[in-house]
Amino acid sequence: MSETAPTTPSAVKERPEHEADVIVVGAGPAGSTVAYYLAQAGLDVLVLEKTAFPREKVCGDGLTPRAVKQLTAMGISFDDEGWIRNRGLRIIGGGVRLELPWPELAEYPDYGLVRTRFDFDQILAENAVKAGARLLERTNVTEPIIDARSNRIVGVRAKNAEGERVTYRAPLVVAADGNSSRLSVAMGIRKRDDRPMGVAVRTYFTSPRHDDDYLESWLELWDSSGGREVLLPGYGWVFGVGDGTSNVGLGILNSTASFQDVDYRKLLRRWTQSMPAEWGFTEENQQGGIRGAALPMGFNRTPHYSRGLLLVGDAGGMVNPFNGEGIAYAMEAGHIAADVIVQAMSRPTQQARERTLLAYPRTLRDTYGGYYTLGRYFVKMIGNPDIMKYATKYGLPRPLLMRFTLKLLANLTEPSQGDAMDRVINGLSKMAPAA
Ligand SMILES: Cc1cc2nc3c(=O)[nH]c(=O)nc-3n(C[C@H](O)[C@H](O)[C@H](O)COP(=O)(O)OP(=O)(O)OC[C@H]3O[C@@H](n4cnc5c(N)ncnc54)[C@H](O)[C@@H]3O)c2cc1C
Repeated sequence: MSETAPTTPSAVKERPEHEADVIVVGAGPAGSTVAYYLAQAGLDVLVLEKTAFPREKVCGDGLTPRAVKQLTAMGISFDDEGWIRNRGLRIIGGGVRLELPWPELAEYPDYGLVRTRFDFDQILAENAVKAGARLLERTNVTEPIIDARSNRIVGVRAKNAEGERVTYRAPLVVAADGNSSRLSVAMGIRKRDDRPMGVAVRTYFTSPRHDDDYLESWLELWDSSGGREVLLPGYGWVFGVGDGTSNVGLGILNSTASFQDVDYRKLLRRWTQSMPAEWGFTEENQQGGIRGAALPMGFNRTPHYSRGLLLVGDAGGMVNPFNGEGIAYAMEAGHIAADVIVQAMSRPTQQARERTLLAYPRTLRDTYGGYYTLGRYFVKMIGNPDIMKYATKYGLPRPLLMRFTLKLLANLTEPSQGDAMDRVINGLSKMAPAA
């Protein structure tokens, strides 16, 4: 099999059903965002998703102002009932309870949202379809099709809703298939051991706290499984979903020696049992089981572009190491990838297209590289329980320092002309080597 990429996007109706300008594997926030922007630019984009919407997805369901900005840019409105707004972050630890409103910035809105992933992902996928993308649900991509001559990906094989083996072809493929990204692995792109990784678990409780207008984060997670109490690097959260339930969970980083040994479900159970009884975090009020998944952080799978394949979102390990937020970064990277693809597809030669596509990993590095390097230092630092204890004890009681910390952890600064805190954070991110 040997094929060449088309030089310009061709009209959708002239295309056989199984061909497209771009194939996007996975319709999570990353995939649907890429698809939305590609379709808007007039490309024929085929999105292959192994599940069918609506479907459960293990997540904290929290959206910071960074995520709200991306949703707004795609024309998503927050008028219907499923959205609940929040005004900031409440931090609890070291005997302190601090409410930090989201910063007032020109770059980002001053509110966040919560919406369960049960239909959040469906809303984004439908938005992409409205823009012109073709979505095939219950279509499980099993392997890449690699052109023997060019050694590039030129399509994928999949099992469709009827259980038939089918092939789909396109000159460019986007891996937006999440943390395990089988497609990237099949193309030889594996996880990096030198990058942080987290594990997070969550469940839902019917609770009077369901309409909390702050995202709440608990900084002290103690584990006693090894016989003595150890302060774990990570945090617990209580996010009101607004539908009668709270999403309650915790995430731990791999920078602690006990990372492998922690029983996360037990830890969550013990932690929720220690909460005030009136919050209702009891077994009777629990909705569904405790479910967990990995948090791939700080670019833990690279390169983000190789041989016709672009990695976006969790597939490229794009979760923010400072706070475990992944949805905003998946959408931002999706937008960047789509812009690069649109430009590349308009170039007349394969050589020019390739040069343009290489702008994708470069832009990602320029945008997040330094900040994620700082995040890696941070993850290492808080892996030391003494530093974690010190920071909680002496940092939390200082509101000014905590306002700075919120901006740093949530990556919420004005890119230019910000205040002194913004300048320090932007300066540090620029100075840190982007790797
Ligand atoms: C417990 C937990 C809590 C979290 N809380 C938050 C939070 O509060 N806020 C936040 O911003 N982030 C949070 N995150 C991170 C966030 O969930 C991810 O970063 C985000 O989902 C990444 O989006 P994505 O589109 O890259 O990948 P995913 O959301 O994983 O989407 C991948 C999609 O690809 C599909 N797929 C996979 N394989 C195939 C295949 N072979 N063929 C076809 N389709 C395929 C999947 O079905 C899925 O729809 C949390 C993560 C965990 C584990």
